[in-house]
Amino acid sequence: MTLPIMKYDAVIVGGGGAGLRAALQLSDAGIKTVVLSKVFPTRSHTAAAQGGISASLGNSDEDNWHWHMYDTVKGSDWLGDQDAIEFMCRQAVDAVVELEHFGMPFDRLENGKIYQRPFGGHMAEFGKKPVRRACAVADRTGHAMLHALYQRNVKANTHFLVEWMALDLIRNDNGDVVGITALEMETGDVYIIQAKAVLFATGGAGRIYQSSTNAFINTGDGIGITLRAGLPVEDMEFWQFHPTGLAGAGVLITEGVRGEGGYLLNCNGERFMERYAPTAKDLASRDVVSRAMQVEINEGRGCGKNKDYVMLKLDHLGKDVIDQRLPGIREISIQFLGIDPVKEPIPVVPTCHYMMGGIPTNYKGEVVVPRGKDMEAVVNGFYAAGECACASVHGANRLGTNSLLDLVVFGKSAGNSMIEYIKSHGNEYKELPSNAGDFTVERLNKLNARTSGESVADVRAEMQKIMQQHAGVFRTQSVLEDGIKKIKEVYKRSQNMFIKDKSKVFNTARVEALELMNTIEVAVATMICAEARKESRGAQAREDYPERNDELFMKHTLYYNDGRGLVYKEVHNTPLTVDYIKPAKRVY
Ligand SMILES: Cc1cc2nc3c(=O)[nH]c(=O)nc-3n(C[C@H](O)[C@H](O)[C@H](O)COP(=O)(O)OP(=O)(O)OC[C@H]3O[C@@H](n4cnc5c(N)ncnc54)[C@H](O)[C@@H]3O)c2cc1C
Repeated sequence: MTLPIMKYDAVIVGGGGAGLRAALQLSDAGIKTVVLSKVFPTRSHTAAAQGGISASLGNSDEDNWHWHMYDTVKGSDWLGDQDAIEFMCRQAVDAVVELEHFGMPFDRLENGKIYQRPFGGHMAEFGKKPVRRACAVADRTGHAMLHALYQRNVKANTHFLVEWMALDLIRNDNGDVVGITALEMETGDVYIIQAKAVLFATGGAGRIYQSSTNAFINTGDGIGITLRAGLPVEDMEFWQFHPTGLAGAGVLITEGVRGEGGYLLNCNGERFMERYAPTAKDLASRDVVSRAMQVEINEGRGCGKNKDYVMLKLDHLGKDVIDQRLPGIREISIQFLGIDPVKEPIPVVPTCHYMMGGIPTNYKGEVVVPRGKDMEAVVNGFYAAGECACASVHGANRLGTNSLLDLVVFGKSAGNSMIEYIKSHGNEYKELPSNAGDFTVERLNKLNARTSGESVADVRAEMQKIMQQHAGVFRTQSVLEDGIKKIKEVYKRSQNMFIKDKSKVFNTARVEALELMNTIEVAVATMICAEARKESRGAQAREDYPERNDELFMKHTLYYNDGRGLVYKEVHNTPLTVDYIKPAKRVY
């Protein structure tokens, strides 16, 4: 053990919505808590969330959590765990009211209640008609939420290590998590942070694709670290493509645009979603809309010179509605494409947006993995929440606005589990293993020692190209098999990456190399899991297996990177208090 040691009762890796909600719970309970983040917390990707947070407040239309639960199960294409889904949907109203009391400035109705807009897949009366369920702060909902949570944490005396990067988990002989190693970017120094409990809230990994709505820091660090620690990750084949990424730039144009009445057009000026989803139309679930757009483009009905995008029309909403409810997307559209949506439609394409899979947890935020016959044995001291976790509430496809809800509900729930665990262990820290940190030091030394080899930028570009071509909206056996071969080659190349700049202080080249070592793990996992799932379900659309196959594949994939390969576990089909929602064909 050669590294300096710091100690905190609770270590939270990630300062996005999930990390900050968990930290608040712990700090408010008087637990010595630190949040590590690669960027200043309020710059986490949560700040980019535009459209809203779901809760069946029923402020504009009649609504209740049973309908929300039904929509989420259906949206997940029956791969979501129904106990976790019930837990989340039941808590949604309280969670939003709590955010309001934290100071989040929600948009209001005339009568003073929280404003709500419709969003894809959110319906009334068990799927009959769209319902207004998304609570929003214009089209800057995540920004408002994250700032409210950050300020609450400042008040609660949460400690922040800003521009710190977690590198590896430290587990003892029993397999319990007893700390992490982390890099202080400013100095280049590496530390052991010993902890009674560690929560991962490291967000998504959309950067495995060429075209993504995700921030540059969404590199899947939590997933890479978990795999390197010998633990599995769940359902990595399921990636959500958001229907409306700005063509060419990938920047997100919120579904709130369609919620407010915008709709999609092909090159013939046809509102084509009426053909694919007669009831919900442009507000069908995201996978359904993305596939419809891709079919229009593939069949030659795309717009523009190359016929490679479709149009999102919203000028009919009028300047006032656009300026009041969607000011951010007007700004984005003008800045990136020089197109003012008050006058013209916006060119859009399906773009990688959200990782449904992640670190396997239960609804208490505890990380659960196979041990002997038990498929869900708790890993002591290890918790995960937010996009990096798989609880699994989103199953094979997430409904818009259900992620912000997931962050606060499971952030809080994981915080509560950690409080209980820490309190039950008194004041004792579990001993660090004698070789703690050596693994990290070895990794860093290897990277430093190499004076030639693969460039980080080349490896990353190749990975993104392969993922885009071989694990996109539509998938087939041969394309995936080729993809596996190609991504494994890139993986090999990644083992031989080198950096020219060996300096310590704020060395962003080193940080990017370390990030890519995580991202490439996510890419390989995705390709392998997608090939093995020979059915279409939610975001996984196999042209060669167009139907969902519940008999063979209503089960979660668990992937290990150490040769153990794939293992499957049952979907939780027993909700906490209500009846099981039986599988049905998913039509909108
Ligand atoms: C453009 C966009 C719009 C969206 N709009 C909506 C919406 O309207 N409604 C909705 O419900 N969902 C939306 N989503 C999805 C949702 O915003 C995200 O899933 C969610 O914000 C993720 O939150 P998180 O707390 O899990 O992670 P993030 O907010 O991504 O935060 C991750 C944190 O982990 C830190 N981190 C990562 N790796 C390390 C490491 N190795 N060491 C230290 N720190 C690390 C980062 O610094 C960051 O602080 C949107 C997503 C995008 C990309």
